[in-house]
Amino acid sequence: MSTCPICGAELFVGLRSWHLVCGVCGYEGSTLNAHILSQAPGGDLDEVAREDALETLRRSNFQRLLAAIRGLTSKTSSCQHPMRLLDVGCAHGWFLEQARGNFDATGIEPDRGVAEATAARGLRVRKGFFPDVLATDERYDIIVFNDVLEHIPDINATLQACMLHLVPGGLLVINAPNRMGTLYRVSKNLLRLGRSGTFDRMWQLGFPSPHVHYLDTEAVTALAERHGFTLLASERLPSVSISGLYSRVRYSKDVSPVKALLLTLAVAVAIPALAVLPPDIEVWFLRREPDA
Ligand SMILES: [Zn+2]
Repeated sequence: MSTCPICGAELFVGLRSWHLVCGVCGYEGSTLNAHILSQAPGGDLDEVAREDALETLRRSNFQRLLAAIRGLTSKTSSCQHPMRLLDVGCAHGWFLEQARGNFDATGIEPDRGVAEATAARGLRVRKGFFPDVLATDERYDIIVFNDVLEHIPDINATLQACMLHLVPGGLLVINAPNRMGTLYRVSKNLLRLGRSGTFDRMWQLGFPSPHVHYLDTEAVTALAERHGFTLLASERLPSVSISGLYSRVRYSKDVSPVKALLLTLAVAVAIPALAVLPPDIEVWFLRREPDA
């Protein structure tokens, strides 16, 4: 039996054997295991293909994210030197690349091959896991998790480490899938109709590092309060765009070209509606409370 990382209640098996649900707060988790360190150095080729398909969407989302971070930190930034930003799970360094114009940006990446390739492009990257690779007294003004927190099993230990490695008043940015999102809810309905593909895909079943949590604003607020943070704001980010959509759908090898084309068209038609329905990707901005 496992307990809910948000409220401590008992978790029950949900819609799949590996899917867990909290009957009290609604938190959803999984028992899926990461095998990121056991794969070939540099990640497998499929992962590269997937990242390529997502690149355009990610880059435009990162631009919006950085604008929001600048807005939230401009009032607190009184010193002359640029603010220190830590990007946990920086992967290919796209966020670092965009952030280094305004911030003193450092990344952490556990995949050795990916970390080396990113460092070779002139970006500052530490190889390993957060917070193990940081010195005990190392502090940042901003810590960012871009599509990373939902992969980390002990979410409470991670938030505690963020508290230790952020300056008082520092900003914690969590960019993660939202449990209340429209596509996720559609995937649950499809599963109830006997079609598990979309739901499994939302959890990244079979991927090197599948999702272990699905958060929502209530869960993030509870986590924030427990670990000494205040939720300042949240922002929605588009989870799909026309660009790269076909290759993203096609990336799943069990999808035939015809089916992928039909799926692409269906999602493309739905994009305007998705822009106003509950978002599938949300960014939560948390402020570390000053020391008492
Ligand atoms: Zn719970």
